[in-house]
Amino acid sequence: MDTPHCHDGADPSGNLICPACAQPRTAGHYLCRSCWFALPAPARAALSRRDRHALTRLRQLIDQLGKGQPPAAIEVTP
Ligand SMILES: [Zn+2]
Repeated sequence: MDTPHCHDGADPSGNLICPACAQPRTAGHYLCRSCWFALPAPARAALSRRDRHALTRLRQLIDQLGKGQPPAAIEVTP
């Protein structure tokens, strides 16, 4: 059976999926564990902060992943 993937964060059954690799991810995390740890350390640190730029960084992350950029090449607002 073919299950279409929605890259906005959840599959049709409501399971959270990783926008980088479409594997299941944990609620409260942007990416699955392996993609999260593949991010460059500065990007990971920036994405962990919840300040007024948090949404901007999340958009940058999703945007770059959407263009096919690998997690290791992601850059976000520091
Ligand atoms: Zn992933």
